[in-house]
Amino acid sequence: MLEVKNLHATIAGKEILKGIDLTVNDGEIHAIMGPNGSGKSTLSAVLTGNPLYTVTEGEVIFSGNDLLEMKPEDRARSGLFLSFQYPVEIPGVSMTNFMRAAINAKREYEGMEPLNAGDFMKLMREKRKLVELDSKLSHRSVNEGFSGGEKKRNEIFQMAMLEPKLSILDETDSGLDVDAMRVVADGVNKMHTSETSAIVITHYERLLDMIKPNFVHVLYNGRIVKTAGPELAKDIEARGYDWIKEEADAKF
Ligand code: ADP
Ligand code: MG
Ligand code: MG
Repeated sequence: MLEVKNLHATIAGKEILKGIDLTVNDGEIHAIMGPNGSGKSTLSAVLTGNPLYTVTEGEVIFSGNDLLEMKPEDRARSGLFLSFQYPVEIPGVSMTNFMRAAINAKREYEGMEPLNAGDFMKLMREKRKLVELDSKLSHRSVNEGFSGGEKKRNEIFQMAMLEPKLSILDETDSGLDVDAMRVVADGVNKMHTSETSAIVITHYERLLDMIKPNFVHVLYNGRIVKTAGPELAKDIEARGYDWIKEEADAKF
């Protein structure tokens, strides 16, 4: 699914990613934890093609393609989904029109005909039910005036509609309440198949308790310095990051 090799990236001339190695196989869920400012959001931004960042070394293969050579919109159309830490509001664009455009762009990329109105509405209904999104929200402008919880649910709804191969959820700095965490966890779990994968960036051991990732990585100072099973999240919850930082500082 995804292979990241020795990835280095800079922003404004400052090196943030200092050699990331990460392999995500089909059907796996990987969690990335780590202290603030480690480069977690930078990694998701680089993977999705945010032009503010410059890749200076390394490679990324996604579904057999050289991801770094692809335009951001083609990355999305080929099945990469990034949830937004700070969802944007798009006044004047209804959720329905927004989703129709996104779905049809993806279908066009795959060489498929656009969905007809009937099938599209059926898909909207089906996915809305799956993520328990209030039907009233789908008639409103994208995220405009949505509460934090509604935005989160809407984001999971968009993910369900697009059926991405690889979802990256960057939840790091957003204060998720228990209900929003449940929405995210249920969404990830319901959509997860043996052919899809997810990278969940989070500070919350509690979220990982609901999602049950295959691997937990710690990103610190631009590198993945520790990888283990879900028990690592519990260790971090109990002991913090200092012991991991000390191990890493001694090594690099
Ligand atoms: P995390 O998501 O792990 O908290 P980020 O990827 O957001 O970390 O940030 C990694 C580092 O990049 C931080 O030290 C941050 O200050 C730095 N950084 C982010 N944006 C810029 C920028 N525009 N100019 C310089 N440094 C930046
Ligand atoms: Mg941060
Ligand atoms: Mg972040």
